Amino acid sequence: MTVQPALAAPDIVDIADAGDAARHGAKAARLALLARGGVATPPGFAISVADGARLAAGGAEALGAALQAALARLEAVRGRRLGDAAAPLLVSVRTSAGEGASGAPAILNIGACAATEAGIAARAGLRAARDLRRRLIQSFAPAALGVDAEALEQALLDRIRASGAADESELDAAALGALLDDYHRIVVDETGAPFPEDPREQLSLALAAAAAAWASPRARMLRAARGDDPEAGLGFVIQAMSLGVGPGVSGAGSAVSRDPRSGARALSGVWVAQGQGEDAALGLRAAAPLEGGDGALALIAPDVFAALAAQVALAEAALADACKVEFTVEDGVVKILDAVAAPRGPRAAVRIAVDLAEEGRIGRADALLRIDPQLLIEHLHPTVDPAAPRDVIGRGLPASPGAASGPIAFTADAAEVFSARGTPAILVRVETGPEDIRGMHVAAGVMTARGGLTSHAAVVARGMGVPCVVGVSDVAVDIDEGALRAGGRRFAEGDVITLDGGAGEALAGAAAMLRPEFSGAFATLMVWADAHRRMGVRANADTPADARVARGFNVDGIGLCRTEHMFFEPERVTAMREMILADDAQARRAALARLLPWQRADFVALFGIMKGLPVTIRLLDPPLHEFLPQSPRDMRELALAMAMPVEKVKARAAALAEINPMLGMRGCRLGVTVPEIYEMQARAIFEAAVEAEAAFGAAVTPEIMIPLVSANREMLILKDRIDAVAAAVKAERGADFAYKVGCMVETPRAALRAEEIARGAAFLSFGTNDLTQMTYGLSRDDAGGFMRAYLAQGVFPADPFHTLDVEGVGELLLMAAERGRRGNRAVALSLCGEHGGDPASVRFCELAGFDYVSCSPYRVPIARLAAAQARILALRGRGDGAP
Ligand code: PEP
Ligand code: MG
Repeated sequence: MTVQPALAAPDIVDIADAGDAARHGAKAARLALLARGGVATPPGFAISVADGARLAAGGAEALGAALQAALARLEAVRGRRLGDAAAPLLVSVRTSAGEGASGAPAILNIGACAATEAGIAARAGLRAARDLRRRLIQSFAPAALGVDAEALEQALLDRIRASGAADESELDAAALGALLDDYHRIVVDETGAPFPEDPREQLSLALAAAAAAWASPRARMLRAARGDDPEAGLGFVIQAMSLGVGPGVSGAGSAVSRDPRSGARALSGVWVAQGQGEDAALGLRAAAPLEGGDGALALIAPDVFAALAAQVALAEAALADACKVEFTVEDGVVKILDAVAAPRGPRAAVRIAVDLAEEGRIGRADALLRIDPQLLIEHLHPTVDPAAPRDVIGRGLPASPGAASGPIAFTADAAEVFSARGTPAILVRVETGPEDIRGMHVAAGVMTARGGLTSHAAVVARGMGVPCVVGVSDVAVDIDEGALRAGGRRFAEGDVITLDGGAGEALAGAAAMLRPEFSGAFATLMVWADAHRRMGVRANADTPADARVARGFNVDGIGLCRTEHMFFEPERVTAMREMILADDAQARRAALARLLPWQRADFVALFGIMKGLPVTIRLLDPPLHEFLPQSPRDMRELALAMAMPVEKVKARAAALAEINPMLGMRGCRLGVTVPEIYEMQARAIFEAAVEAEAAFGAAVTPEIMIPLVSANREMLILKDRIDAVAAAVKAERGADFAYKVGCMVETPRAALRAEEIARGAAFLSFGTNDLTQMTYGLSRDDAGGFMRAYLAQGVFPADPFHTLDVEGVGELLLMAAERGRRGNRAVALSLCGEHGGDPASVRFCELAGFDYVSCSPYRVPIARLAAAQARILALRGRGDGAP
């Protein structure tokens, strides 16, 4: 014989005691919080999620006496009884879903029937009493009896038409009486039985039907399709009705406590007189505003409005958040039916979090944790107004945030012409290369048909803070014809388009924009973030202009100055090309000698702007062919400038071309094989340090970073040469200065050999762009072509060039960090790939104990907040408590 386990007693508690969301569902827990916070919620009780499953399996009898006892308590509190002819109680049944799901529609006015009509009429008038019966049948019969909702709706419309009313609110008691007869007939026709008039039976049927519907395979499927947990359970909240119809000021509505766009403290919302539940939200009847305008509650009943405002303030205090409340007013008495976190745009989110902390409702650490760092993008750049219409012509990868509108320019030259005329253009290219930099500098935005998130266009645009969308593969760009084709439409040079770099979309025309916002709550939040973070945040800044932007974002230094970007200005690139095409070392040195003063001046400016903060300068990295002209016209011009036959220019360019330049003659390989380049750069850095110290009075300790190291010998050879240049400059200038030499860890071999390499390096900086490329064997310039398909099919959980691949590349980082520290306990560790501005990757760096991350200037605030959040969570996880 099997022994049945004894069934636990039903778990039904008064609402104030239903604070555990896992037991009684999220809505019950919220209502408990509100009730305990003194908010005027209607009295009632909660049925647990576990009991919801019993209801689904065995109907309301499964809850037996416990349900009746809870009802009896509610009747005692209200001084009314379900089904009582003189003082009838009406209740609502609302669902309270478990974690990870939203509930199902409510059934209101249970207890309204022929026997209680007179009793309700004594409280609210006959018209209201009949309207409540009408409302009950209209929602209950389809949900609990399977009656066709449209048949009921049609009967209502017929009655409205017959009485010449505008809507149901104008039906009088007699018309409603006739409508009730229609409804009863429809119920009998469709179910073969009369509408259940016994209120206790109504309640039982409503509970059992809702629980069974929730447990059905179809509902599970729908939940899964919505992204909810298909297995989530369902509890219930039973409350005494606050009628919303009847004498005096009666109605229903919803209100938010703070402005959804600005976050300012301002009560706003709508209400419907003589309404219930979602009447206002559903727009069944024209809703009136709470304040200002026809029928405004504040105008009609200032005392009721004041009472509502007081309730909303209590709800805010209870939830410790800005909230959206649903309310009912019965004869001037306000009841709050629910309060949830108020919807808010990105700017409002920051203002609300900061205000709540300043009001003392939450701590500063919690305010920091409430903001998704990515939301800060909305403060840093103009963005497309979310309320504006969007005419999307192409989708690609969101390479650099912010939005911009402008005329299309298909070449850098055209972009310069538009800029000179005062209308910065959107530079549209198949992909970009160094030759496009000057065009990108003056463009309002950049779009490429090809490329991934670390392609040339993406990295350069991000560094410049220019909105950029790359890999827009659903458009055809024909540069020669000067046409952009998208879905049957053709756009010519000069046609205005908008780029949304945050969404990765190109839109036709000029979309409405929101301006950036650096002050106020944003500035306060940043100060708090800095007080909470451990890890440094530096900027990737290549030019004095970048450095100024970075300084404005309060960086801790420059973590990566990509010196190649200093060579692209027209006169510099000519000297650079002469250096590359020089026939011998002497000619090369002559060209480099012309570059030296420019480099030195750039570094003096950088050191001056950074005022003693650390500046890490990376020696030249890209393969030399990137500096050479591509078009026949540019080749001719260079040949002329160098008095060299054009055939020779072409031949040298061809000789320097590589099949896979990312793995070819670049980085320290250049430095080892063409020593003059790095020697010139090192000299420019040291001379600039001496001059900057003299000019600005702050000691400068330059950090020289060697790119693409894979063998320790590379590092040692180059460090020796740099030391020799330092000694020479010290002797020549009669000055002393400190400096550091370190390297990038961006090849898998450098990660493997980190212990040995760290012995001779003051710092190791992980170049996760190249490290991701080389770990996956995936070209950063070609990934855009299939990345969207890969993400859509779930092959990669995220673009690894955007969010650090913690499992693969992350493991290499951890291993290299550990080995590096073993080789040199004092070695500084950092990350300077594009991941440095990605919140999840920043968190990884905090947990790995890195000293700093370095990212594009416009991502600095995001990284500062992400670093603070990571620190707070790490400390809480260790039980240290938040700082
Ligand atoms: C890197 O590879 O991560 C890096 C920062 O260098 P770059 O993007 O210039 O190759
Ligand atoms: Mg690199």
